[in-house]
Amino acid sequence: MSKPEYNAWIEAYVERSLGHVRGRCNNASAEMTKAFPELRYATGFVLPDEQSRSELPTVSMSLEARCSVYDRDVGLTQHAWCVTPEGEIVDPTVSQFRKRDLIYVEYNAEVHGPLPAGKCPNCGNIVFPEQNGICNEVCHRQFAEYLRKEGARF
Ligand SMILES: [Zn+2]
Repeated sequence: MSKPEYNAWIEAYVERSLGHVRGRCNNASAEMTKAFPELRYATGFVLPDEQSRSELPTVSMSLEARCSVYDRDVGLTQHAWCVTPEGEIVDPTVSQFRKRDLIYVEYNAEVHGPLPAGKCPNCGNIVFPEQNGICNEVCHRQFAEYLRKEGARF
């Protein structure tokens, strides 16, 4: 398949989504790889420019630094897209970004370290696998207290 066919598919997808493709990168990329089996589904980060590469997570960074990388408001943009057999990027939800010429960096666990495992039930912050589901001792204590009080209500 070639560019015009990909572009036609993307146009139709955006139209079907009534132009709202934000937050649909996973869905769109997965669907597109089904429509074009030669495409590969990829996930990672999109960066506005080369300098932003320094903000990428690393295996050796502290937990605190890693949390800020994935912060919903100020962190990097996590994204999904497709890759052609030639290694070209085909991004079905690129229209959500105002900036062009974005840099796509595929996630690699050995380079970027662990991905967030979920959210802390006490404060809602991102938590990583090594945290066992909760931020720290403080959140753990507060959450245990909350559960105890909730339990007492019944
Ligand atoms: Zn917490």
